[in-house]
Amino acid sequence: SKTLRLILGDQLNSEHSWYDKVNDNITYVLMEMKQETDYVTHHIQKVVGFFLAMRNFSDLLSEQGHRVIYLSLEDKDNKQDLSENIRNLLDSEGFERFEYQLPDEYRLDLQLSKLCEELKVESKSYDSEHFLTERGYLEEFFKGKKTYLMETFYREMRKEYDILMEGKEPITGKWNYDHDNRNKFKDPLLLVEPKIFRKNVSGIVDLLEKNKIKTIGKIDENKFDWPVTRAEGLGLIDYFCKKLLSNFGEYQDAMFTRDKFLFHSRLSFALNTKMISPLEVVQKVEKYWLGNQESVSIAQVEGFVRQIIGWREYMRGVYWAKMPSYKELNFFGHERDLPSYFWTGKTKMNCLKHAIGQSLDSAYAHHIQRLMVTGNFMLLAGIHPDQVDEWYLGIYIDAIEWVEITNTRGMSQYADGGIVGTKPYVSSANYIDKMSDYCSSCFYKKSQKVGDKSCPFNSLYWHFYARNEEKLAKNPRIGMAYKTLAKMKDKDAILKQAESYLDRLEEL
Ligand code: FAD
Ligand code: SF4
Repeated sequence: SKTLRLILGDQLNSEHSWYDKVNDNITYVLMEMKQETDYVTHHIQKVVGFFLAMRNFSDLLSEQGHRVIYLSLEDKDNKQDLSENIRNLLDSEGFERFEYQLPDEYRLDLQLSKLCEELKVESKSYDSEHFLTERGYLEEFFKGKKTYLMETFYREMRKEYDILMEGKEPITGKWNYDHDNRNKFKDPLLLVEPKIFRKNVSGIVDLLEKNKIKTIGKIDENKFDWPVTRAEGLGLIDYFCKKLLSNFGEYQDAMFTRDKFLFHSRLSFALNTKMISPLEVVQKVEKYWLGNQESVSIAQVEGFVRQIIGWREYMRGVYWAKMPSYKELNFFGHERDLPSYFWTGKTKMNCLKHAIGQSLDSAYAHHIQRLMVTGNFMLLAGIHPDQVDEWYLGIYIDAIEWVEITNTRGMSQYADGGIVGTKPYVSSANYIDKMSDYCSSCFYKKSQKVGDKSCPFNSLYWHFYARNEEKLAKNPRIGMAYKTLAKMKDKDAILKQAESYLDRLEEL
């Protein structure tokens, strides 16, 4: 029967079995909609990236002979709402069936289930054929457990998909190389140019302006640098293997002012739009390593594989196990507003200035900048998790709620009270200085805890522990901090300093 198949902006998986055969009874539809541009204020590069990748995908399907409808943002038939557009198309084109791939976001899942209940025609959902596990897998795997230990899940994925394995054992005998992967970056000679794409995107930028789509951040219309086709995504994997993998693990946690990408892959956008799949990424990386063991050590490869079939897959499972209540969690009861420098980068704190500034410039910051600079500060300062989420969900090119909220509320803000993490990720200037070159040129003094020039992270760190003693002191991984706090001679002065900073967060 005459069927309409929906493709969402993050379902650009050309390897999906839907496309195995051309069938004239099936029409695919992709839509640029205000519903999606407006649910949060996005970075301009994020909106441009999605639209461009969707347009390319639509062209690819047409070239392969599939029937495709593409509703651009200003198409006269575009109702700017997913359900209305589908209803409208079903009626006007006389479709007898509606089919879709299971979305990865809760809000879209609800919207589509509701729509299908109301439709007069039959409907059917399909797996997106992207992840290693099905939606409910992780919940079942950890049934009855309070904390979901990522490591246990990760090892299961390694075994199930035979990644870096020798029979039932991890290849080289060890599962985890985290301890080898914590070095500061010092040698600029090791730096590698990032792979660039340099696309002209002025057409889409004009479209957004004309239609008054509100965005944040900057864009260079002649040099759009994110992969927007499967071929470009594959090119990026290749580039990562040849140029970046050999140093990836070692400098995974390092931050360096001169180079925002260091040895990170920048694959998250291509992955999250499903142009490339997690399994093919890790298989390609494993294969490359097997052929190049003299130049690439296992610690680099394991560190990378862990991020993709460990953390990424795990976060998706947590999302489906815990939504929708996850979105409401606020373990510490934080209420403060996000300071306005998160939207401008104008702060005297050098680490934040760089992490925020580069996010506004390029819709990107790597993991440790997100976790130990911006996230760390927001947690220490007690910012309301809704505002934290809104910021992360808007600013990064790879931000889609299933992977954003679990990282933000869970890993970074510990607002879930310890489902994702076993303790809050907080630190004083000590850690930031150990892993970066930010502190040496900062207005604030990294080694001072008290005084007008004392680094805010230092006093806020102890204030965080002091104010949350009841909630945290029993945690065996934190006990030491409370012992140190109890013995501190200048404890009162430090806490007072923190209060003074909290009273004027905007001015820091
Ligand atoms: P690389 O360092 O090269 O890592 C390779 C891949 O591993 C990434 O592309 C990504 O797919 C995966 N990965 C690594 N860490 C994680 C993680 N913790 N969770 C899930 N996948 C991971 N990632 C997103 O994709 N979208 C988000 O919205 C997002 N928000 C985050 C918010 C916070 C507060 C934090 C701490 C982390 C967030 N991350 C998010 C995870 C991680 O920071 C990014 O995936 C990574 O920085 C993307 O850059 P890359 O592709 O160069 O990663
Ligand atoms: Fe950041 Fe403090 Fe270091 Fe300045 S001194 S860069 S505020 S950690």
